Amino acid sequence: MTDAVSQHTIMFRGTSGQSSMGRVNIKALSIRARSWRAIVRGAAGVIVTTFLALIPALHFVLVPIGLVLTALMVLSAFRSRTHLLGGSGPCPYCNHTITIFPRRATFPFHDVCEQCRRQVTVESSV
Ligand SMILES: [Zn+2]
Repeated sequence: MTDAVSQHTIMFRGTSGQSSMGRVNIKALSIRARSWRAIVRGAAGVIVTTFLALIPALHFVLVPIGLVLTALMVLSAFRSRTHLLGGSGPCPYCNHTITIFPRRATFPFHDVCEQCRRQVTVESSV
């Protein structure tokens, strides 16, 4: 099964009620893609935890923390069913294009306009 990409309309909202509309691409992850992402994150966590085991004395604390964080990263990667691939839209303050970079597809989230440096809230308009 291939992962389906769909376009969604989003709303950029300023702190004083200004708003503008934009678009993002969201990828629905198949069970295979979610499993692969979980395996990659788990492997990265185990590698980092292995290096933490080399630190004298602190490894008694750092290794358990690393293992717990690895387990949380694996669960998080497996549970996220969608991934935001990116998008853009006009800033509600200065109308400059705000580019949204790939990230977890959870709404709302905050972003900063590169032109005017003001924070905007990005909401799904669905
Ligand atoms: Zn702006």
